[in-house]
Amino acid sequence: QSWSQAGLTEKIHLMLKKFQYEKPTPIQSQTIPAIMSGRDLIGIARTGSGKTLAFLLPMFRHILAQPKTVPGDGMIGLIMSPTRELALQIFSECKKFTKNLGLRVACIYGGASISEQIADLKRGADIVVCTPGRMIDILCANNRRITNLRRVTFLVLDEADRMFDMGFGPQIMCVIDNIRPDRQTIMFSATFPPKVENAAKKILTKPLEIIA
Ligand code: AMP
Repeated sequence: QSWSQAGLTEKIHLMLKKFQYEKPTPIQSQTIPAIMSGRDLIGIARTGSGKTLAFLLPMFRHILAQPKTVPGDGMIGLIMSPTRELALQIFSECKKFTKNLGLRVACIYGGASISEQIADLKRGADIVVCTPGRMIDILCANNRRITNLRRVTFLVLDEADRMFDMGFGPQIMCVIDNIRPDRQTIMFSATFPPKVENAAKKILTKPLEIIA
């Protein structure tokens, strides 16, 4: 498998080369074309499989095809993660690419000062990586017009099993209830217990299931 089969943009190809991601990992070559086709997808994959780029690369292409984000606009891509550590890991992988692509990304997580995160959102971020609790705090404090979910058309739930195990179910559903139903939704999970399967039925539309 090679990146040229993935259908990404020329600019993304150049960056993959620059960062020496020579070829897609198995989960990437299976999921990227499916995600690029616009389908909802459940990927069963662990950390280390390359799952982060599997959803980030199609997300970049999705966002680049849309009008430019200006301050005051909400994000187009939203990624939910169970922990601050994972959110920061995704944020850092994302930032490798966004600068050259002219996209902005913000990372929103608990246990850190909220004011800087609010400032990042207000500047206008194309992509937001978040933990569910902090996202709710920000949306609930929204009389300050910090951000909105009106433009979200690409939603990712990463490590879904951990998010539900940690009891974030109600917060996740509360955020998603405010996102347009015609979005594309991607869920990655290391395992697929009934709790996650039931949530997936509510959150995703006719998803493809890919097991790494
Ligand atoms: P992840 O499973 O997304 O946490 O990725 C695990 C590690 O693999 C990260 O350090 C990535 O930068 C790296 N990685 C992701 N995709 C590739 C690839 N196609 N080739 C080489 N390394 C990769």
